[in-house]
Amino acid sequence: MLKNKVALVTGASRGIGRAIAVELARHGADVIVNYFNDEPRASKVADEIKALGMKSIALKADVSNFDEVSKMFEKIKGEFGKLDILVNNAGITKDRSLKKMAQEEWGKVIETNLGSIYNVTKNALPMMQKDSRIISISSIVGIYGNFGQANYAASKAGIIGFSKSLAKELGRHGITVNVIAPGFIESEMTKDIGFLKKKILTYMIPLKRSGMPEDVANLAAFLASEKSGYITGQVIRVSGGLVI
Ligand code: NAD
Repeated sequence: MLKNKVALVTGASRGIGRAIAVELARHGADVIVNYFNDEPRASKVADEIKALGMKSIALKADVSNFDEVSKMFEKIKGEFGKLDILVNNAGITKDRSLKKMAQEEWGKVIETNLGSIYNVTKNALPMMQKDSRIISISSIVGIYGNFGQANYAASKAGIIGFSKSLAKELGRHGITVNVIAPGFIESEMTKDIGFLKKKILTYMIPLKRSGMPEDVANLAAFLASEKSGYITGQVIRVSGGLVI
């Protein structure tokens, strides 16, 4: 399904990014595994992809740093010559009510989650052709807001505005731009949520379970495929129906 396609997944050494990278490879794509600092885990993901018979390399770059991202793309150009699928996945949280939120906690989350979308997509575009796909991972928090997450919610809502605008700019070039808004997914990002809060969250989820990274990866693979060719500018929730 994704034969001869080249994909880049940011923050792919673990969690949702890892699951997406592996799922794209399972569908036949060559995958670049971007990572921040965990080289051993990123290499393991690249090895997993190679074991599936696909080409893969792990490339280090802080996606909040435009120059580092540009350098990563020079390597991608040298190694693969093109990019068909971009998955903007890297993200962080620094939760605190606004009253207590330091400027650094605001800035870091905005730069990492939203600044990165400019840095990576801007560098990716010149390497993309007709039928390419841009998929960005937002959150249902970007739609509903959440207590203690003004910085995170603003960054994730920003991804939605960016993507809806870009869908309008790139439609004529045959490039689709879509957003996945996950709900409560089990990963290192959510592992420190307290037992009681997890219970309450699960109770609130109509499907009565937290999501797995693979639940998000399945949609990413569909959006990356030619089967999603008439879908652009959309925000699709993978949340078990959760409304927070
Ligand atoms: P995670 O913490 O396991 O993964 C985040 C990844 O991003 C890590 O690999 C991390 O190294 C990478 N990263 C962070 N800063 C980076 C930087 N500056 N440069 C490059 N990489 C960087 O968490 P996850 O749950 O797998 O999160 C993946 C994405 O899904 C994030 O954007 C997150 O906001 C989003 N999301 C997660 C949930 C959830 O419930 N887990 C819900 C909604 C949205």
